[in-house]
Amino acid sequence: MVTMSEQEYEVLEEKLNNPEKKVICPRCGNEIIYEKRGNSIAVECKTKGCIYGGIRGL
Ligand SMILES: [Zn+2]
Repeated sequence: MVTMSEQEYEVLEEKLNNPEKKVICPRCGNEIIYEKRGNSIAVECKTKGCIYGGIRGL
């Protein structure tokens, strides 16, 4: 389980709301990616084990 700051949650939410926008991870500087997985959406840092989030069951 990754512990995230409020700012990191905001960055993930920004990407969720703006899938086309380039969003950079505040923790490591890598890019945040937006991915549809079946009927859910995930947003996560390209760096393995870094920050992530998502919405299930859309
Ligand atoms: Zn990162």
